[in-house]
Amino acid sequence: MSDEQTFTRRCATHDVSTGDRARMAEMESNFRSRTRIAEADLSVTIPVAFVHIVDGDMGSITQAQRTEQMEVMNKAFEPMRISFRHDENEVVEINNPDFFTMGHGSLNERNCKSQHQVISPQKGLNFYTANPGGGLLGWATFPHEMAGDPDMDGVVMKFGTLPGGDTSPYNLGLTAVHEVGHWLGLYHTFQDGCFGNGDEVVDTPSHAGPNFGKPEDAGQPWNACNPSEACPIHNYMNYVDDDWMNEFTQGQIDRAWAQIGMFRRDLLVSTSRGAVTPGMVPDLGEEIAW
Ligand SMILES: [Zn+2]
Repeated sequence: MSDEQTFTRRCATHDVSTGDRARMAEMESNFRSRTRIAEADLSVTIPVAFVHIVDGDMGSITQAQRTEQMEVMNKAFEPMRISFRHDENEVVEINNPDFFTMGHGSLNERNCKSQHQVISPQKGLNFYTANPGGGLLGWATFPHEMAGDPDMDGVVMKFGTLPGGDTSPYNLGLTAVHEVGHWLGLYHTFQDGCFGNGDEVVDTPSHAGPNFGKPEDAGQPWNACNPSEACPIHNYMNYVDDDWMNEFTQGQIDRAWAQIGMFRRDLLVSTSRGAVTPGMVPDLGEEIAW
């Protein structure tokens, strides 16, 4: 029997409330003017630990898939001067049918992450694979949430989204790029639609809702709020097909660095795992409490 199923990209990363986004925008603005972190030209390597939840034979991920996933992430984040590395000694496979189908925000998710976190969330990324169901491809936690709830930090990915997986057209590893974008503090480009401050990034035109598939850029505004602007139809933080995603904007890069400086600054400290920042890290001041 054919197991054909059509997927539409769905990400379960929760919306940050309007009030919290406004507060965040003010904090970020203050932090950036004080530290000039976006201008500091820093680079960083982030250690990644893979936690593969399986149900018997289902959900296994090969070393080749991990390697390819890291290559996809490294290519996407290169303009951000962020790279990722993983150590095969920090790969675990957990056979647990309940955790395998964990839903976003479920008790199974909390139990799974509490019991199987591999790397300290201050020092790296816990990358979980599972089969959440409901058409969800993945989700992430935001940087400002880590201090208050470190157990939950990380990204959860439907296992078929990794390169070579079975969730075509979302099986080239770009879901991980999208979710790691959230993990570094980015919102969807269609955040708030045509209302409010959108994704808090000035160079991603606001648009009414997600774009799907492979919208061709024939000068159409698609669902851009301002018809003279073009939708960010190739942006990693939109909902287009994997092979249509190829862009972070300068505004997104600057925002991610501010978020690292505010809430993930331990990534900037050299460790034996190679999270090294060449050059001068500006004085980041006191720990930012969310
Ligand atoms: Zn998302």
